[in-house]
Amino acid sequence: MKLKDIYAQGKTVITFEVFPPKTDEGVANLMAEMARLKKFNPAFISVTYGAGGSNQGRSLQVTRELMEKLGLPVMPHFTCVGSSREYIQDFIQVLADLKIENILALRGDPPRDKTNFDPGKTVFKYANELVEFLKQNSSLDIGVAGYPEGHQENKQDLDRDFANLQKKMNAGASLIVSQMFFDNEKFYAFAKKARANGMNQPIIPGILPITNLDSIEKMIELSGAEVPKKLLNDLQSAKDEPEKVKAIGIEHAVQQIKDLLAFGVPGIHFYTLNKSEVAEKVLGRIIPKADRN
Ligand code: FAD
Repeated sequence: MKLKDIYAQGKTVITFEVFPPKTDEGVANLMAEMARLKKFNPAFISVTYGAGGSNQGRSLQVTRELMEKLGLPVMPHFTCVGSSREYIQDFIQVLADLKIENILALRGDPPRDKTNFDPGKTVFKYANELVEFLKQNSSLDIGVAGYPEGHQENKQDLDRDFANLQKKMNAGASLIVSQMFFDNEKFYAFAKKARANGMNQPIIPGILPITNLDSIEKMIELSGAEVPKKLLNDLQSAKDEPEKVKAIGIEHAVQQIKDLLAFGVPGIHFYTLNKSEVAEKVLGRIIPKADRN
């Protein structure tokens, strides 16, 4: 089903994000984890994609297995950094052969370990150009990334960052999936600004519960998301009790989602980090049993 139809059904749309593991064993584990999440009726699983196609084989393997073994629809991500026009065209053909209807179109970042990376092949500098190309050369419905707290490169100028998001929507994107955030007010301000600027496409909050103190710093660095002081204090005061840290992170995510649903978001995009346990604990408190498989 196309993104436009998925989000027009008038019920809360649950989606999960995974990344392609590096080994076959990792892929098998991922299938077992996602099988546990099927009960929440995800509209699709989104599968991340490395810059310049660094993990294209695994990304497509995961995509195929999710569809064929678990019967789950997939929205593959695609990053255009490092990609030529022909390379993108070939990828579009692979997706058409797989009968995939949706894609998350991203610019991506040059890989940190740049050994095989050739930026010289990059044909599109920003995601809005990729969206335009996909619109002209495929029948895919297109989602894009949005940053409630601003993208790292434009954190000092949120209006400019926002104007760049608008370019992606004007190029034909039909969905915004947000970067993770821990303070709903940031998301609400972003969503209200989008509406005030005439963006009527669904804006889906990306949720990642904090379950491990060691990972917070990395998460903040990668996402640019702020952790509210009270949450950070609560987590730090439980630093010697890993189970308590996890419980605090889960409770925060549950409250975040309840509030977001009351605000009227049409869906929740859950960053699973390839595990089912936390998603099950959080969504188990949100989705009524009657609405599960
Ligand atoms: P863009 O929308 O192109 O924006 C990048 C920066 O350039 C922004 O600062 C923007 O303000 C600016 N900009 C945009 N357009 C223009 C323009 N026309 N002129 C001037 N400036 C412009 N990364 C991966 O490698 N693989 C993934 O699978 C992946 N999945 C993601 C999923 C989600 C939901 C999110 C939120 C992020 C994901 N990322 C992924 C990370 C993403 O690739 C990085 O954040 C990357 O730095 C930006 O990609 P983008 O598509 O948002 O870029």
